[in-house]
Amino acid sequence: MKAFVYQGAYNMPLENVETPVPGEHEVLIAVRSVGICGSDVHGYRGTTGRRKPPIIMGHELSGTVEKVGASVSAWTPGDRVVANPLLTCGVCENCRSGRPNICSDRHCLGVDMNGAYAEYVCVHEKMVYQLPEGLSFDQGAMVEPLAVAMRAVNLTPFQLGEKVVIIGAGTIGLLTLLAARMRGAGEIILTDTNGYRLERAKKLGADFVVNAVETDPVQFVKDWTNGAGAPAVIEAVGVTQTANQSLFMTKNGGNTTWIGNSQPEIQINMQQIVTRELNLRGTYGFANEFPSALETIRLGKVDPIQLVEEKIPLDGTGKMIDDLANGSVGFIKVIVNI
Ligand SMILES: [Zn+2]
Ligand SMILES: [Zn+2]
Repeated sequence: MKAFVYQGAYNMPLENVETPVPGEHEVLIAVRSVGICGSDVHGYRGTTGRRKPPIIMGHELSGTVEKVGASVSAWTPGDRVVANPLLTCGVCENCRSGRPNICSDRHCLGVDMNGAYAEYVCVHEKMVYQLPEGLSFDQGAMVEPLAVAMRAVNLTPFQLGEKVVIIGAGTIGLLTLLAARMRGAGEIILTDTNGYRLERAKKLGADFVVNAVETDPVQFVKDWTNGAGAPAVIEAVGVTQTANQSLFMTKNGGNTTWIGNSQPEIQINMQQIVTRELNLRGTYGFANEFPSALETIRLGKVDPIQLVEEKIPLDGTGKMIDDLANGSVGFIKVIVNI
């Protein structure tokens, strides 16, 4: 089969590789739609260190079942499906307490297992969900990023009608906006350094957008809250500057959530957290948010297709990721159709 194999920083050729054969409990999926994730673009640059070559990236996928392993009874060839990219053990303390996303033996498609920038992908049967009637494969590919955003909103306490700040207007930041709205946030501010993305945020319902190139976003949030800071701030970038902004923007005793995961080490102002009793938390992946996101899309509460700005065939994936990595294009969400 054809697959893009990540071989090292800025090196991901299209190769002809063996089509995987499903093991006893595995399902082979013919990929139909796969979203290009910002984390893959960072991974391609070789800066995050999470993807160890050689690996086929791609973890936001839908498709049809092609073949099933001997012990798989729930799926048959031709079924339209979505795959949860997280493979978890199911028996560790974290899995048993309802937090499989922090499983002590966690694996992720496209990170440490071969993913979906390929014609086929092989997954454990427990990772497979039915794509409901009436949903497109592209909508199926958007379940995973929506689940990430819903997790961040679920873990961030705020009351109905309270102000929420979201830093970063990429796919996850924008989906977080939609999820926070669904959960009953009051006014929502989006901050970014990209005017185009902020325009998108406005169209998607942000009450205020702040271009951090022109306006100090911390000062803006302070002014907007009579100097107090916001009750809830969600950071979806993951670098030193925005991580610090998220702390300075949060009101005393408020909640700061980090989804951004670009730079492994950053420098932050610790005293902001200690002396103002901020509740700082990380959020990673999702637990039950995956089926919830699927249901949310099915119900039409959120339509993540609004974020898809470009669709390409499999062969164009390598060039697109390279273009996204070097900044020559700035699409919010690109979907590969196979
Ligand atoms: Zn992703
Ligand atoms: Zn586990």
